[in-house]
Amino acid sequence: MNNNKPHTAYFCMEYGLDENMRIYAGGLGILAGDILKAAKEFSYPVTGIGLLWRKGYSKQVINEAGRPEDQHPVNNEIYEHAEDTGETVSVTIRDQEVTLKIWKLDKFDNATLYLLDANLPENRKYQTITDGLYDGFNEKRIAQEIALGIGGVKAIRKLGLNIDIYHFNEGHAALAGTELIREKIETGMDFHTAWDTVKDEIVFTTHTPVKEGNESHSLDSLKKMSAFNTLTRKQMKEIGDSPFSMTVAGLRLSRMSNGVAKLHGQTSREMWKNVAGKSPIISITNGVHRGTWVDDRIIENMGDTEAVYKTHQTMKQELVDFIKERNGAKLDPNKLIIGFARRATAYKRPNLIFKKSDLIDPYLESGDIQIVFSGKAHPTDDNGKEIVANLVKKAKEFPNSVVFLEDYNMEIARYMTRGVDIWLNNPRKPLEASGTSGMKAAMNGGLNLSILDGWWVEGCEHGINGWQFGDGYVGEGQDESDLYALYRVLLNEVVPTFYGNKDRWKDMMTESIATTYERFSAKKMLERYYSEMYNK
Ligand SMILES: *Cc1c(COP(=O)(O)O)cnc(C)c1O
Repeated sequence: MNNNKPHTAYFCMEYGLDENMRIYAGGLGILAGDILKAAKEFSYPVTGIGLLWRKGYSKQVINEAGRPEDQHPVNNEIYEHAEDTGETVSVTIRDQEVTLKIWKLDKFDNATLYLLDANLPENRKYQTITDGLYDGFNEKRIAQEIALGIGGVKAIRKLGLNIDIYHFNEGHAALAGTELIREKIETGMDFHTAWDTVKDEIVFTTHTPVKEGNESHSLDSLKKMSAFNTLTRKQMKEIGDSPFSMTVAGLRLSRMSNGVAKLHGQTSREMWKNVAGKSPIISITNGVHRGTWVDDRIIENMGDTEAVYKTHQTMKQELVDFIKERNGAKLDPNKLIIGFARRATAYKRPNLIFKKSDLIDPYLESGDIQIVFSGKAHPTDDNGKEIVANLVKKAKEFPNSVVFLEDYNMEIARYMTRGVDIWLNNPRKPLEASGTSGMKAAMNGGLNLSILDGWWVEGCEHGINGWQFGDGYVGEGQDESDLYALYRVLLNEVVPTFYGNKDRWKDMMTESIATTYERFSAKKMLERYYSEMYNK
């Protein structure tokens, strides 16, 4: 451990460390997991703080009718993987004392992660607050956020950790700020001096540029749930406005904030420009943990174009076999395979490619274009579920060229990002904050075909390491314009290169790896967190 680097406590609602450790839902958790792994690998003193989700996120399967169905089995593995520290802390939730057990997790080559767990009979109705990740709204969500934020700081004290920097990854952890302030007030400081003092130790990462994705709670609900944590209504309002926005609170509690890609930093600055007293929002582009996401065989052969191509063919065959086993579909490894996997939600437009059936269907019929989809809809997102149902329907229509893999997780992501030829990404710009799955594909020799949004604005060299489409256009008729742009690039550039110019394709694969491997690694990201956010 390098002792002259600041010791950072990293707070996050979810952690994606391993597919059997179902305490993650998606990109936010994968990012947090990758950060802890890179911290361990490169000796950065980071300690993770999270919640032990006994039921995890929804397990989403496709039912007989072809629709997604949510299941919530108890995630028993979790108690096998984690170690009981024997310590507990207590927080106040709606005037009731709630005990949180502290578990320690470090078996996935990750920097130590402490997970708080409310699953004790004495907690009565609050025993289940750490059951389901993102299953809580309003009061239940507040209870979960008290556990993460306030409970997290208390756990740090209980464990005697010496923390220099508190990093709130997303607004969920913002209530930690109230605890840090409360502690200072308890030593005799006034509120504003306390706030100024703790601000120096807090940094914040904002994520979603979708307005509704930024959570807020009424001050009345927060009060009722005891989330004021001894602060007054006026003080809470000063921190997070009324209603209390968790993002605004994060921006005001911290001395420095960041967006997760260059463009996203810019979008966030614009989005939050009217928030007085916020910290500066810089951009630190996400990265992925190479040991997790890049196949060893690719790393061994890096720089050797033919060997990389051969290795990629092997990984493609492994994906084809995986799909055959999972879904029974027989994809042709000699034909183009496109991958598309991410949360199923409207702005990511998973169905875009199917919009003009006269253009795309002939390719699906011949099998010259094969597409593998995966992704869960949020359990309460009916629109997202409709999207999934439509993808499943397409897969029935074209059984050997369209596939939907149910219950998207890290294992599926690993097979897909290693095995596909093309990673397709077509969000409605500028709503994709970063998008790390494309980096995973790029580093394994998969070529990105993406809208100029998120990280791809920085990564793309069109026709050299992948392709962009849409030219970054934002405005009226964007969907229609993106649609034709997609077909133009896919049908006039991607498909002809794949089938007609393999040498160029192989060169692009080599270039894809070379231009992303360092730049979009979690190592690089962590270096930047340390030099631009954590250091004073
Ligand atoms: C990488 C990854 C994500 C995040 O990918 P995006 O491109 O940001 O959507 C989500 N879920 C899983 C399982 C992943 O592996």
